[in-house]
Amino acid sequence: MTIAENIAQVRRNIADAAREAGRAPEEITLVGASKMNDAAACREAIAAGIDVLGENRVQEMLQKYEQHAYDGAPLHFIGHLQRNKVRQVVGKVELIQSVGSLELLEEIEKCAAKQGLRQKVLLEVNIGGEESKSGFAPSEMMGAAEQALKKEHVEVCGVMTIPPVETAPHANMVFFHQVHTLYVDMNEKLFHNKLKYLSMGMSGDYADAIRAGATMVRVGTAIFGARNYGAQ
Ligand SMILES: *Cc1c(COP(=O)(O)O)cnc(C)c1O
Repeated sequence: MTIAENIAQVRRNIADAAREAGRAPEEITLVGASKMNDAAACREAIAAGIDVLGENRVQEMLQKYEQHAYDGAPLHFIGHLQRNKVRQVVGKVELIQSVGSLELLEEIEKCAAKQGLRQKVLLEVNIGGEESKSGFAPSEMMGAAEQALKKEHVEVCGVMTIPPVETAPHANMVFFHQVHTLYVDMNEKLFHNKLKYLSMGMSGDYADAIRAGATMVRVGTAIFGARNYGAQ
């Protein structure tokens, strides 16, 4: 299967899940999670009509950026972001999806101010409460959003989550519903319903995420094939 064929298949699945949930397929933004795939693969995905490409590692992103891997599509940062790397990302990507601490938020504010721009972000929630994952606890999300609203150079566009690895089919449905509830509540109470993005769902569970209200899914393996971690 080619990248283009995979994207077409993912789009069909997205459309089915959206219709099942009574929503329009066009409401769902498809982010290609292109980590460990080269610039040629990124270009292939863009040519096949991917909406956005998302990268996880700053170094890899900068390298591929130099190689014009992302020309023609918006770029998002979706991975864990260290504070000392923020300045390499701010202004370069349309959206930083993975803002999971107030320290990170403050650093983004500083770097964006320096560049005289407003950086769009999503607030990341650690819905499974996993030690190994970054993100705000669900109970911290409202406070984090209030802090973000005070920052002149940061614009919150929504919420992102990475739930635990599924141990059984549909096991994450409960998490997706929880995050959707949180998103709707925050959107209503603090953002006049102007938030656009609820980013959740990956190759194994994006259909469920859409059924639970996702407006953005991040799909890697189902588009680019299995990542070869051994080769690194
Ligand atoms: C790699 C990655 C994805 C995509 O994962 P797949 O299971 O390969 O679809 C989505 N989101 C984030 C944050 C990722 O790091």
